[in-house]
Amino acid sequence: MAEVTRENWTIHDDFPDKYKGTHFQEKKVDCSKGIELGCGAKCCSFYFGLTPQDVEEGIVKYDANFPFMIKQEEDGYCTHLNRETFQCTIRDARPVACRQYSCLNDERIPERIRDALKEK
Ligand code: SF4
Ligand code: SF4
Repeated sequence: MAEVTRENWTIHDDFPDKYKGTHFQEKKVDCSKGIELGCGAKCCSFYFGLTPQDVEEGIVKYDANFPFMIKQEEDGYCTHLNRETFQCTIRDARPVACRQYSCLNDERIPERIRDALKEK
């Protein structure tokens, strides 16, 4: 396997600034409705990578065993999720992955919930 060095490590040099641009600023999903329907913020149990911006600003916690993946607790959910309200406790600084995500076509979310969310 080729040695990974700062010079040849190029995968992570094109992440968007999460505070700029409009295409991912808000999810196109009515999460209040999803939570009401019982989604249980399932998306906040997915394991995903952070960007250099997330890591450097020091708000989003990462998994020290697998840097720089999102930190999760023993229940399998993101450490930043309020378990009672299913709200993100770092909403203004949440990672790009959370801003971009939509559950509407994700089969990991129950179909009845996705169908209801697609209704206007
Ligand atoms: S994106 Fe979907 S699964 Fe995640 S909190 Fe919103 S409604 Fe629930
Ligand atoms: S940072 Fe917030 S929105 Fe993203 S997975 Fe964690 S609790 Fe959910």
